[in-house]
Order: sequence, then structure tokens, then C-alpha cells
Amino acid sequence: MLINMNKISPIHLLTYSAIILLFIAFIGCNGKKPQAEVQESESMATSVYLDAHTHIASPALLTAKGQLNAPGAPPTSAQELIDSFLTVSGSKKAIVLSSAYIWATVDTVTSSQSSAQQLTDVQYENNFTAEQCNLYPDQLIPFLGVDPLEDYAISEIDRCVDSLGMQGLKLHFANSAVDLSDDVQLEQIKAVMNRSVYHKLPCLIHFGEPGHDDDFNVNQMQIFIDSILTRISGLCISFAHSTGFDCFPDPTSSTFSMLTDADNTNQILQENKIFVDISAVFRGDIIDGACPITAANLENFSNLIENWGVDRVFWGSDNIIGYLDSTYKYWPMEIDDWNTIAANQGTEFLQLSKE
Ligand SMILES: [Zn+2]
Repeated sequence: MLINMNKISPIHLLTYSAIILLFIAFIGCNGKKPQAEVQESESMATSVYLDAHTHIASPALLTAKGQLNAPGAPPTSAQELIDSFLTVSGSKKAIVLSSAYIWATVDTVTSSQSSAQQLTDVQYENNFTAEQCNLYPDQLIPFLGVDPLEDYAISEIDRCVDSLGMQGLKLHFANSAVDLSDDVQLEQIKAVMNRSVYHKLPCLIHFGEPGHDDDFNVNQMQIFIDSILTRISGLCISFAHSTGFDCFPDPTSSTFSMLTDADNTNQILQENKIFVDISAVFRGDIIDGACPITAANLENFSNLIENWGVDRVFWGSDNIIGYLDSTYKYWPMEIDDWNTIAANQGTEFLQLSKE
């Protein structure tokens, strides 16, 4: 309807003005209200319920490595871990990884150490981790550490579970120089994985080995998939750093992609509980000389995590100061994806409802 403005009385003008103002107000509200709602649901969670990758080390171990008080060294007490990391990420819980497997390396290079001394040191370190976590049992979840290639690996797993009540297992394939193409080592790793199934023990595995060519890591993952992940039922594994090491370069995207493909096709693997953590992926410029974060790597990361499913992804600080800020800074996916990861309590991985 067209309005002849010359024929409008002041009363009508007021009425028309009021209608126009109401209309503008309505449009304004309509434009603003949903926006406020969208912002609310899309704001990035600023705390992470579970820090799924933290380390602790005894002063004795750091002294033996010459790293006591060195910058970047792991905390030497539960209190320091909480103060330096969990308060920053607002985490209610943290998986705390024993550094016991490092004693195997330290004692091997210190030729004066006997193998009996190595076992004593490994046990000392696992005891230390359990004791520290027991100071904050509602917050800290202790994972034992062991070099899977040592003769005492199985007995130390049993001791830590049965006597210390430790709740998971940390394996560091790079630190322990695991080579799955060696048949003897493959059998040792199988035995350790079978023991983890026996104890219903979640395992956090640092799988990627830097310092090798990409083929090495790809071959290792192929063997792990063919001989372990698709053969042993009841496994519960989180792959540290999304199967790699720092950032998200090749071969990490290759090994993660192999894991995703196998997971889509193999029934045993689908029934196993397999997760990844995204610790150290966004490390980038936090540390001088660290791996660069490139647009291509971030795109690979997004695509793979989307295929894998964000509900099977954990965030972990890996004791990197500023890592949560760096995760925000570089986060390449939807905010809702981040919020799903930040809210993950790890209940399924930690097998908190064991029969
Ligand atoms: Zn770590």
C-alpha cells in the first residue's frame, strides 16, 4: 500500500511513525537475538575437563639425566604439576605418565649400572608416580611406565597394577627404540598388549619415531595394524600426538590416515577402543626451532580428525607451557568440535566402568 504523505494528519503520521519504529525494532531484535544465541553456542570452551597427557619425573631421574631444574623438564611433584598445568587448563583430571621407561635408557648408557639396578630404578620411578598421584586421587590418574622390550616388562606391569593400583600403561616406542619389523620385538610388544587386555588397562602409546625416514613409521604402523590392532580383541589405546610426534607433519598424517582406513574396514579394530590425543600438534612457535605449523598440515589434521570422529580425541598439554593458548590460536576446525574435545571426560578410555 502506497501512502500519500500530503493527505496524512499529524495523528496518522504519529501512528505510521510508531508502526515504522516498531518494525525497525522488530527487525533489530530479530537480527540481534539469534546472533547472541549463536555466539553463546559457538564460544570456545576455555577449560579442558581432562588433560590426557602429562608427565612427572622424580628428582633422582632428572638428576641422572642432568636435567634437574632444566627448562622444560617435567614437574617433580604432583603439586607442581597441578600448579603449573591443571590450574591453567582448568582441568578436573589428568592422566599422569610415569617416566620409568627412561631409566632403561639412562641405565643402558651408564655402563656401570647393572640390569638389577635398572629394575630397581624403574620400580622406584613407578612407585614415585603412584605416590604423588595418591596425594590427589580425585584429580590425578597414574599410568605406569615400562620399556616393553625389557625382560621384566610383564612382571612390572603386574606389580604396578596389583600392588600400586596404577590405572594405565604408558609406552614410548621412540624412547625404547622399538622396531616392529624385528620378529622378536614384535612378540614382546604383543605380550605387553595382551597383558594390558588381561588387566583391562588403557594404554597411551607414543608411536611415532622421529629421526627415521617416513617409510619407517609407515611400515611400523602397517605392522601394528596387521599384527596387533586387528588381531587382539579388548585393546584400549590412545595414540599420543595423533600417532606422530611434534606438530602434524608427514609421516603423522600418513600413519593416522592408515589407522583411520583400517578402522573403517576391520571389525576387530572397530570393537577395540582406540583414541588419539592432540598433544604437541599445535606446539609450533612456542619453542624456538620447533616444527612449523603450516596451513597444509592444519588442513590434513582437520580432515583426518573429522573422519576419525572428534568424540575419540583427547587434548593433552604434554607439559608444554602455553599449549592451551596455542591450541586456541591454531584451532582449524569448528568451535563445536573443540568443545566436544574439551568436554571429554575420558570415561570410555579409562574403562572406569570395569566389570
Ligand atoms: Zn609426552
